Amino acid sequence: MAAIEKLMDKLVGLCKRRGFIFPSSEIYGGLNSCYDYGPLGVELKRNIKDYWWKAMVQTRDDIEGLDASILMHPRVWEASGHIANFTDPMVDCKECKARFRADQIEGAMCGSPGYKGRKANKCADEGKFTEARLFNLMFKTFMGPVEEAANVVYMRPETAQGIYVNVYNVMQASRQRIPFGIAQIGKAFRNEITPGNFTFRTREFEQMEMQFFVKPGTDMEWFEYWKAQRIAWYDGLGVRKAKLQFHQHGPTELAHYAAAAFDIEYEFPFGWKELEGIHNRTDFDLKRHAEYSGKDLSYFDDATREKYIPYIVETSAGCDRTVLTTLIDAYDEDVIEGEARTVLHLAPVIAPIKAGVFPLVKKEGMPEVAKKIYQDLKKHFPVFYDDGGAIGRRYRRMDEAGTPYGITIDGQTLQDQTVTVRERDSLVQTRVASDKLLPFIQEKMAGYRRVD
Ligand code: ATP
Repeated sequence: MAAIEKLMDKLVGLCKRRGFIFPSSEIYGGLNSCYDYGPLGVELKRNIKDYWWKAMVQTRDDIEGLDASILMHPRVWEASGHIANFTDPMVDCKECKARFRADQIEGAMCGSPGYKGRKANKCADEGKFTEARLFNLMFKTFMGPVEEAANVVYMRPETAQGIYVNVYNVMQASRQRIPFGIAQIGKAFRNEITPGNFTFRTREFEQMEMQFFVKPGTDMEWFEYWKAQRIAWYDGLGVRKAKLQFHQHGPTELAHYAAAAFDIEYEFPFGWKELEGIHNRTDFDLKRHAEYSGKDLSYFDDATREKYIPYIVETSAGCDRTVLTTLIDAYDEDVIEGEARTVLHLAPVIAPIKAGVFPLVKKEGMPEVAKKIYQDLKKHFPVFYDDGGAIGRRYRRMDEAGTPYGITIDGQTLQDQTVTVRERDSLVQTRVASDKLLPFIQEKMAGYRRVD
């Protein structure tokens, strides 16, 4: 337990120190469960989103992209079932006033500083908790200047509904026919009762969702297809296979709209937890929107002359949770030549910086050659120039930032125009002609496999 807590503490410390993730509004004492991505974090997050977009939209003929608004017509949330059902059971401790999700007491700690180390379920067993009450997780606000019930709107708790209400707009504009999908990346908001575990559960987060519209009867086939596609995607991202598993929702876990649901789970330091949900939502969503909007949302298949409400297979991933997963999965400590190092084994495709460029010393023309190499590589991918301090320390700074390659310009470079390329994971060093450096690194990045 102590080692696990330590790992999270170390990761949070590294994120702050190296500029991956900062607490929000820190100079005002922070805002619970809100975080800001710093210079390295924003690159990492952007790379993950690009990698998803490429896999789910740009390399496919059957998926289109969308960017819908966060605020939607309030009737959307009646139709979707969020107003009636998007609730968690909440309990309060009568003694210390701490608040818990009734279904997540197991493993939670007492909220009172006076009872440090006391488990919440002990308080539950002793009858200190109130009866569970249902709490709706949607954030409410008002549209326009008058704060009255008629003007209530909600911050979307998922991006999916923006896709459903646009399905025929997208279909007509892109001339897609069923089966086809719509993908979207965007912010979602949930007033979680117990956020925590750093960015694992926050109240504002980004989702990467894809809704695939299919003919009824073919839904389970597509469901299996998307399960396989989505777990393979994490392998490409560099997440270790042994740390991923499927979890099938049993009858008591299934959401009101789902005929089948699997989570892709990752083994976090705090247990196996959901990373992404894959759901067979049947025709629930489009039927409900048809009913609430009064619009016919059925699809007419010209080829077979059939009319039906499409079924939906959804893949719903959390972007922030994926960022956290890649950081946890990449984090490692080892000892090199008697010196401890912290290293992030981030796959090159998501690493914020792809290579560090280092003149061995700040004289004899080395900085000039190194600057030229740096400027040339920068046109192709993010690189970092560092001429400060001992070379070992410069390598370590890049190891900690997850930079996969280090390029050193030394005395030999000036004689034969070769440089040393050091690989972060294996520490293998190769001398490469500087005019072959770009293809050498590109090839390394394309064929990257993690070495622990
Ligand atoms: P949970 O049961 O953990 O509350 P959920 O089953 O409600 O999650 P979904 O509605 O399926 O989650 O959301 C899809 C994905 O969005 C999740 O797999 C997760 O990656 C991400 N996600 C959901 N809620 C949060 C949150 N509060 N903070 C960060 N990411 C979240």
